[in-house]
Amino acid sequence: MLEVRNLVKNYGKIEAVKGVSFTVEQGKCFGLLGPNGAGKTTTIEVIEDVFPATSGEVLFDGKPRSASFREKIGIQFQQTALLGHMTIRETLRTFKALYKKSAEIEDLAELCVLNEFLDQMNDKISGGQRQRFFLALALINEPDLIFLDEPSTGLDPQARRNLWDIVSRITGMGKTIILTTHYMEEAQYLCDEVAIMDHGQIIAQGSPEELIRQHGGDVTIVIPEENFKTIGDRDSFNHKVKHESVEILTDDANRCLEDLLARKVNLNDIVIRSQNLESVFLNLTGRKLRE
Ligand code: ATP
Repeated sequence: MLEVRNLVKNYGKIEAVKGVSFTVEQGKCFGLLGPNGAGKTTTIEVIEDVFPATSGEVLFDGKPRSASFREKIGIQFQQTALLGHMTIRETLRTFKALYKKSAEIEDLAELCVLNEFLDQMNDKISGGQRQRFFLALALINEPDLIFLDEPSTGLDPQARRNLWDIVSRITGMGKTIILTTHYMEEAQYLCDEVAIMDHGQIIAQGSPEELIRQHGGDVTIVIPEENFKTIGDRDSFNHKVKHESVEILTDDANRCLEDLLARKVNLNDIVIRSQNLESVFLNLTGRKLRE
């Protein structure tokens, strides 16, 4: 559905995007993941045709974007300024009137769980409700391709989960989503494919599972230090002591657990931290995603 070829975007001397290429298939959720300033927003704003690329190409359905491209896409920006004295329903109606093709407000309210506050003022809703409302605005023209720019930033875990459920339902309807996020759990939960960006470039790309398999590194097994102290040959485990716990790093969790059990280590209070996209980023760059 979308092909991005060697996209470059400079702001004066700042090289925000330095030759990014990827393709997105219909019905998939594609995630751009990276720390603040990596170039995610710039990349999607160039694709959205908000401003032109310095160089490179964007193809939609195999062709350069035409005038009708904006009718076919929906955008949830990081920030949207709305009039405080209008209700959610009035705002949805106003946006609906801008498009030739549009969704029914009741259907959108159902999908985005807005029913109970359609008649509330735009500035009198919670952060989670606002993000679901912005998502409804992005869907008002029944787009084929939807851009979500850090949709869950600032939401509590419950509100974030609710938003993820809605996004999953949207891809389930065959819509294509391009998502930017710096929450690796979000990318892992929602995305079929992820491109990890850093300093304006894609440094790794694939399904979350592939990336974790290729670059995720070791599993961490955490046990109380007092349990670990009971064994003699502690140095046969790659471990470090941290706050009265021992963290053992291993690339073979099965063997490590068998070894610990064979040495009669009490594993009742064990914690196992598996690899995730955060560890992929850490292994590739030596830095944490969120600092
Ligand atoms: P965040 O997660 O913080 O939104 P991001 O990955 O989306 O970050 P961008 O907002 O695309 O990153 O920024 C990439 C680089 O381009 C940064 O160095 C930023 O300071 C710079 N930049 C972004 N927008 C502009 C602009 N309008 N003018 C000049 N520089 C800009």
